[in-house]
Amino acid sequence: MLDNAPKLPPEIARRRTFAIIAHPDAGKTTLTEKFLLFGGAIQMAGQVRAKGEARRTRSDFLKMEQDRGISVSASAMSFEYKEFRFNLVDTPGHSDFSEDTYRTLTAVDAAIMVIDGAKGVESQTRKLFEVCRLRDLPILTFCNKMDRESRDTFDIIDEIQENLAIDVAPASWPIGSGKDFLGAYDLLNDRLEIMDRADRNKVAESVQIKGLDDPKLEEHIPADQLAKLREEIEMARELLPAFDRASFLNGSMTPIWFGSAINSFGVKELMDGIGTYGPEPQPQKAAERPVDAGEPKVTGFVFKVQANMDPKHRDRVAFVRLASGHFERGMKMLHVRSKKPMAVTNPVLFLAADRELADEAYAGDIIGIPNHGQLRIGDALTEGETLRFTGIPSFAPELLQSVRATDPMKAKHLEKALMQFAEEGAAKVFKPMIGSGFIVGVVGALQFEVLASRIELEYGIPVRFEGSAFSSARWISGDEAEIEKLVNVNKQHIGTDNDGDLVFLTRLQWDIDRVVRDYPGVKLTATKELM
Ligand code: GDP
Repeated sequence: MLDNAPKLPPEIARRRTFAIIAHPDAGKTTLTEKFLLFGGAIQMAGQVRAKGEARRTRSDFLKMEQDRGISVSASAMSFEYKEFRFNLVDTPGHSDFSEDTYRTLTAVDAAIMVIDGAKGVESQTRKLFEVCRLRDLPILTFCNKMDRESRDTFDIIDEIQENLAIDVAPASWPIGSGKDFLGAYDLLNDRLEIMDRADRNKVAESVQIKGLDDPKLEEHIPADQLAKLREEIEMARELLPAFDRASFLNGSMTPIWFGSAINSFGVKELMDGIGTYGPEPQPQKAAERPVDAGEPKVTGFVFKVQANMDPKHRDRVAFVRLASGHFERGMKMLHVRSKKPMAVTNPVLFLAADRELADEAYAGDIIGIPNHGQLRIGDALTEGETLRFTGIPSFAPELLQSVRATDPMKAKHLEKALMQFAEEGAAKVFKPMIGSGFIVGVVGALQFEVLASRIELEYGIPVRFEGSAFSSARWISGDEAEIEKLVNVNKQHIGTDNDGDLVFLTRLQWDIDRVVRDYPGVKLTATKELM
């Protein structure tokens, strides 16, 4: 979004759609809560109360996830902040990597990277950062927990620059750390922000000053700390790049704020940063052409499908990122994959505290569309144009296990549960041609545990995952006669996925090489195109 780019309609231009990425424990949940607090979506952090029994609050949902010991869902939350509309898309927090995380990041225009001031860049920070980099997402950095003993500011910045190969421009500079942490100097606005230790939900006191020589500083900062601050900022201005919006928007520079989420410190400055510097809803890639957010016709794509969000309804919710236009409830859309019309009569917006019916939404927003399985990950909705959005990656299942219900009477129900999870994109499910049972393929080992607990929790079926005779799956395509021959002589290696498409299952690379050699008309691929 450069200054000479065509202007978006104001309703779209004020939207900010982003995710928070962090290593577990860095403070993502706390920061999210403070965002909601300052966005007016909740009254007091950690104290959201249900209005009546039936109403499910956002924090109940969080608690549910905490009770499960793991965050398994990515949901979206919308709230207003100043003149902006923020759409915060939650990334799954567990330490194992899942496809969900990647897909979530296809739906956002920017990410906030939270790091712990004592720990710096951690393993999960790096992995998530790399995913953002694949898409050149603009990244804002929040260095959290400055109220605890933290590392030297230059050390932290150096580590980010070197470890993640990105320029770091300080947006604020911390004054002390741990018990001596006073606040921060806001380098972008020449302000002094002083942390209030007494009230954790209160915003910092803000003192407007005229540069570092302003005598007002002496009223607020003890002499030794002030001398250190002046020296450090002088060095920083010499050694570190100044914030440059274009470099931030193209993903080559990250501004960094120092703060303490739990003390509400630095959070507003960070929110102001996203609001002021953007980005606005960005063009989305489709095979046919890029789709600009300002186009009048509505388009969108499904980046996540979640089943059983509400235990009372066995529905599925497809999360759609609107790529363009102004959506209104009841609109007739074209479901591009099936070429069928689809009236979107009951879309939901995910307001922080609850699911709410959406009467309208704009490019950049995330809406949920309840459905019975028609909507799959990667599907496009348009007002008639055939579009295939291309940003959503498909993953090769790297780990295969067979799954069984511990109670054989429940085998039929297990099939249904597995199919549902396959449609959600939570796993790949294969049914071998020979024998009974199912093979489940995932990207990270922890996904097996998550699946087992979800199958038990949501379907009441205790299951056991165990080693499988296969370790690789390849989708089969190509010449039909050759495929038939291949299937007939290799029945022990053939299965179907949840769409009924053929896969070749094996333990040995040698088998795959053999097929490639003996059946030149057949193609084996490690991933299946989502559309
Ligand atoms: P997440 O795993 O990234 O979602 O992290 P949480 O938000 O759950 O925070 C992890 C722990 O760090 C919790 O015990 C928080 O109370 C604590 N925490 C979060 N922010 C701060 C902070 O600014 N200062 C201190 N001292 N603790 C914090």
